[in-house]
Amino acid sequence: MSKKIVMKTPLVEMDGDEMTRVLWQWIKEDLILPYVDLKTEYYDLGLVERDKTDDQVTVAAAEANKKYGVGVKCATITPNAQRVEEYKLKQMWKSPNGTIRRILDGTVFRAPILAKGITPYIPGWKKPIVLARHAYGDVYSGVEMRTAKGDKAFLVVEDAEGNVKEKLLVQDFKNSDGIVQAVHNLDASIRSFARSCFNYALDVKMPLWFATKDTISKKYDHRFKDIFAEIFETEYKEKFAAAGIEYMYTLIDDAVARVVRSEGGILWACKNYDGDVMSDMVATAYGSLGLMSSVLVSPEGNYEFEAAHGTVTRHYYKHLKGEETSTNSVATIFAWTGALAKRGELDHIPELTAFAKKLESATVRTIEEGEMTGDLIPLFSAEGVTPKKLTSREFLKAVARRLEEEMNA
Ligand code: NAP
Ligand code: MG
Repeated sequence: MSKKIVMKTPLVEMDGDEMTRVLWQWIKEDLILPYVDLKTEYYDLGLVERDKTDDQVTVAAAEANKKYGVGVKCATITPNAQRVEEYKLKQMWKSPNGTIRRILDGTVFRAPILAKGITPYIPGWKKPIVLARHAYGDVYSGVEMRTAKGDKAFLVVEDAEGNVKEKLLVQDFKNSDGIVQAVHNLDASIRSFARSCFNYALDVKMPLWFATKDTISKKYDHRFKDIFAEIFETEYKEKFAAAGIEYMYTLIDDAVARVVRSEGGILWACKNYDGDVMSDMVATAYGSLGLMSSVLVSPEGNYEFEAAHGTVTRHYYKHLKGEETSTNSVATIFAWTGALAKRGELDHIPELTAFAKKLESATVRTIEEGEMTGDLIPLFSAEGVTPKKLTSREFLKAVARRLEEEMNA
């Protein structure tokens, strides 16, 4: 084996919880450290450390991600009441992903990892569909009420001095009890979202589709459409033409129909709710959560790579009892390769980017050649290949063997 690949700028490494924390260590040991003189700035985002530091470690990690530009994050527990009890927490800390997203002001892009033999439920999908979800506002920060028969609901806006600027009747509930809701968004957030989507499309050279329901929502959704159009015209039109990709706006229902009929290879930008629902549909249709990668991209071009799944708690408790697990590490491996490749690109270290691509192909080839974790077995079918279920560690060793071949080729 020749010299290890040298890095220039550290990756911001954010460790996490439970089974994925176990995989994290093994991935580094088996797949990365043998080839890369790994330089990271390490932040322990495991729940114990978050509690100890009053969650300041999460803020520090996000700030470091902003400073260096590229981070890689392990799945982490978002505490609920049961976790507060289990870990004897000082308080129910917020979701680390939410905190990092707020600090980086980023958009999350989720992309499936494709392997021959794992056929999507929509067999026409030959290429990845990458889903970009706007992660601010709308119904996720809405206010709502139940109303009683006889109530009248209004939407009222005051100016900075408290004078009523506009008052609209929402509904006169004269014949029935009912419900009412108000939602908002911010031009600044929509602009960030638009720029993140245009930048990412250029990065991966995929056409960008954006869809809302502007025919019905003539002010609210229309604002999204207009902001995207304006930013595209003024900042991205020429870059898209040069890259040979297109930007298309359409109605959300038309987008759904087109996506299902497509062969993939699209970056699909969605408003918050559409993205929430459609990302689960797209992830399920491609097969397994273990094959879904995720990257947070800020409008300034900071990247944070992770797996889309959680900490796989049930497997962790088996692991703690000394039982073997068969947990899919593919999305976590791809979080590392995404981050290493990006670091290689930014720092002009082509060997690092090439290494990441080899690790990705070794990983996919392991599955295609029939060696995989349990979650993939029922999904796999390829002529002449009988799938074999490996333990979590055996799978990593199987990838490592192929990686060694590729590195020596
Ligand atoms: P999860 O960890 O994604 O696991 C849900 C189930 O999906 C697992 O029990 C397992 O099914 C299957 N699964 C998910 N990933 C898998 C993999 N890599 N390999 C094999 N099977 C996999 O979601 P959860 O149980 O809802 O959440 C667990 C913890 O993760 C929670 O504390 C939550 O807060 C956290 N979480 C973190 C993130 C993040 O950091 N980005 C995201 C989501 C959830 P079987 O048990 O049937 O094998
Ligand atoms: Mg969802």
